[in-house]
Amino acid sequence: MKNYKPETLCVQAGWSPKTGESRIPPICQSTTFYYGDSQAMADCFDLKSNGYFYSRLANPTVAAFEGKVAALDGGVAAIGCASGMSAVTLAVLTLAGSGDNILCSQAVYGGTFNLCGTTLPKLGIECRFFDPDDSAEDIEKLIDDRTKLILTETIANPAIVVLDFEKINAISKKYGVVHMVDNTLATPVLCRPKDFGTDIIIYSTTKYMDGHAAALGGLIVDAGTFNFAGNPRYASFNVPDESYHGLVYAQLEVPFATKCRAQLIRDTGAIMAPMNAYLSYLGSDTLALRMQRHSENAVKVAAFLNGHPKVEWVKHPSLEGDKYHALAQKYLPRGCGGMMSFGIKGGMEKCRKFMESLELITQETHVADVRSCILHPASSTHRQLSEKELEMAGVPMNLMRLSVGIENAEDIIADLEGALNAV
Ligand SMILES: *Cc1c(COP(=O)(O)O)cnc(C)c1O
Repeated sequence: MKNYKPETLCVQAGWSPKTGESRIPPICQSTTFYYGDSQAMADCFDLKSNGYFYSRLANPTVAAFEGKVAALDGGVAAIGCASGMSAVTLAVLTLAGSGDNILCSQAVYGGTFNLCGTTLPKLGIECRFFDPDDSAEDIEKLIDDRTKLILTETIANPAIVVLDFEKINAISKKYGVVHMVDNTLATPVLCRPKDFGTDIIIYSTTKYMDGHAAALGGLIVDAGTFNFAGNPRYASFNVPDESYHGLVYAQLEVPFATKCRAQLIRDTGAIMAPMNAYLSYLGSDTLALRMQRHSENAVKVAAFLNGHPKVEWVKHPSLEGDKYHALAQKYLPRGCGGMMSFGIKGGMEKCRKFMESLELITQETHVADVRSCILHPASSTHRQLSEKELEMAGVPMNLMRLSVGIENAEDIIADLEGALNAV
């Protein structure tokens, strides 16, 4: 598609019907596809042609959604996965294997932290965590010749840390290591990581992309920028893949996405379901509009909370005093989205009273959909941790995680105000 702006791509990219075909992608709820001639089928298996043959590898409805997000991100290919976690897992396993190591920001989504800290080590992949605010020199010290990728988040969930793309991409270029960023909370509408030189972009589409809390999903976008050919760090891209009759991925037009689909999607089956792709495709039609409203509402809500006597602190990059305000202005000029956190003065009891007094904003283990929702991690997702452990995890006892929806901002603020008055 032409070099259209995100608002246009959200509603036009990914599906271009021919005469008489459905205007929006049909739900292609079929495991398999008909072939009249065996050569055509063989060409598909050999990756010589792009036909569909089995929905564990590719499906037309999933392809429509993949095409839309690839266009939004300026990438050369995208792969729909069963969930955000499967997207992170498959993207890592496309590059790393037993004996390798990866660098991972310590300010990442809890699921990603567990994957890197617990499950990948069981597969022989060591994870080296770093503080994304550390200097380039300190982060570089963790790299050796078995380092296969650097994993970060544009806006970390739930720490609300904004990534310094320039710093990480400079390290990635200097050492020839892939930088992979989870862009879930920014979406390609607020930030296009490829513009700053990032090679692989991943999403939990479960969040803003679908936006309606209707479908789990994940996506891996290949920006097409990384040169694998002849790079000794990526031997698996430069030697024949015997499980794919000797294919050498680095010699292909799209090495990363092809290897990810041909090996990892084939072997794990963690592909997006057609129904989920359909819902996510529809949801993402309004992504640009929604991100604008989420961001505008969050600015108003953050300003309100910031001035409230019962609120101890507020974290949202839109606030001038926020530690990440300058980075947000540089990398998120269109807005910072609706995720924020704040602390209520007083202890656990005050937090509970506050939560119970909310009427509009609901308690949910979810973020980033059209409805405002809130979570008190210390009494839910993080309730196994002691007060000291909570502090170490960057989740103080009084932290509230708020996902600002697209309701009228005055109604959201009135609800917060009422509940704060009740504390
Ligand atoms: C939710 C989330 C994930 C995991 O996505 P699922 O679709 O729940 O598997 C990964 N990364 C980030 C930043 C998330 O917010």
